[in-house]
Amino acid sequence: RRARDLASASEPAVTRDGTRISVAANLGSVADARSAFAAGADEAGLVRTEFLFLGRATPPDVVEQEADYLAIAEALRGRRATLRTLDVGGDKPLPYLPVPDEENPFLGVRGIRLALDRPALLREQLDAVCRTARRAPTSVMFPMVSTVDELRRAHALLADAAGPDGVPEDLRVGMMVEVPAAALKIESFLPLLDFVSIGTNDLTQYALAAERGNPGVAALSDALDPAVLQLVDHVCQAARGRIDVAVCGEVASDEAAVPLLVGLGVRELSVGPHAVPGVKARVRELDLEQCEVVAKQALRSESAEDVRELVAAAWGPC
Ligand code: PEP
Ligand code: MG
Repeated sequence: RRARDLASASEPAVTRDGTRISVAANLGSVADARSAFAAGADEAGLVRTEFLFLGRATPPDVVEQEADYLAIAEALRGRRATLRTLDVGGDKPLPYLPVPDEENPFLGVRGIRLALDRPALLREQLDAVCRTARRAPTSVMFPMVSTVDELRRAHALLADAAGPDGVPEDLRVGMMVEVPAAALKIESFLPLLDFVSIGTNDLTQYALAAERGNPGVAALSDALDPAVLQLVDHVCQAARGRIDVAVCGEVASDEAAVPLLVGLGVRELSVGPHAVPGVKARVRELDLEQCEVVAKQALRSESAEDVRELVAAAWGPC
């Protein structure tokens, strides 16, 4: 299967009954962007811009950021890059952006919260994003949004950073859905968005109150838990026919998850570059109607384990 996967790597991934699923890549560097292109990624669904900011004494300036974003764009050879604004905080500290010690950094001042607390840094990043968008297909998205007010303030900073020429017309603006409250309130966010990308790593952590990376609760934090799938479903139902829904958490490359996410209405899966060919191959085996039927059953299941059994019964063991 591997040879066939590679041969068709850059072809689009289409289900047997003709639904196109964009298989995108998650990037953290220019080298990743090269791997993503080589692996046949349709676009970059999540560029973790932290890579530019971590491990240095001062933040990169606008010129340096623009150069790095354009280097990524060039490596993608015309495919769209979705730049996620700086997602740091107590769990990923920066020397030039000190945050007070927190007992629960995952529940603290991180992501968009920190960025809006120190808006100069976000404004500068959005300036670099606008400059990039004037030269290459670019989207921007904000991490860890919990309230509509946060998204409005981020939009205001974007408009300010864009300057007198205005926000570039081709710049698509989205947000990560990784806080359960944002998933539940999705309807209120929609008028302010071109797309959403569901971050199932954090969404699962918050939905199940199970810290990501903590081995003691690893068994609990399964993104195929029906509670997480119900949140994904809620977002897809509200977004249907209005804006695009992507998933960029780890689960997007889980062979068992792909048919369920597609069945719920997700039309972009963003995964590690090496996982792109396998996810495309998986999509090509699927029939949308069957995905929808099994996804509905998964929503009513009792546990992630039961969900995996449903998938195995429908498509064979993964
Ligand atoms: C996520 O939370 O699912 C996500 C993709 O973002 P990160 O893993 O960078 O927190
Ligand atoms: Mg996240």
